[in-house]
Amino acid sequence: MKAVVKVKRGKNNIEIYEVEKPLCQDNEVLINIKAIGVCGTDYHIYTDEYDTVPPLIIGHEFSGVIAEVGKNVKGFNVGERVISELSVQSCGVCRYCKTGNPQICLDKKAPGTHINGVYTEYINMPAALVHKISDNISFEEAAVIEPAAIVAHSLLQRTKIE
Ligand SMILES: [Zn+2]
Ligand SMILES: [Zn+2]
Repeated sequence: MKAVVKVKRGKNNIEIYEVEKPLCQDNEVLINIKAIGVCGTDYHIYTDEYDTVPPLIIGHEFSGVIAEVGKNVKGFNVGERVISELSVQSCGVCRYCKTGNPQICLDKKAPGTHINGVYTEYINMPAALVHKISDNISFEEAAVIEPAAIVAHSLLQRTKIE
């Protein structure tokens, strides 16, 4: 599959490569990516102002369709339209994880910045992070739910705006 890869640190160093399709592990779903968002973080990866660990596929805002379901996964089926949270490999035991904030766990490895991301055709994600989307939401709209959630969290929970 084709992928947009940050090849090494330094400005730009982004190239299109042919890479292996990821395998779907037992607790994961494999997602066929249908739409992506371009985040400010991606620009900072381009300018090398963001701490990445290349080589890796960049991009983290996305939506898609389930292409494969791991054998331990329940509640998901091939063909369902989905998005995903990004807190892959959060530890589950630190103060942030224990208080329902695995997205700021210091151990998490987020797609597109620490592990392979979504500027490609397929990504494997832990099923526990995946959410189905309803039919009235387009793939393009769904791809930016993650940044929209950050805005909602910042405005509604961290400020006094009501
Ligand atoms: Zn982003
Ligand atoms: Zn943690």
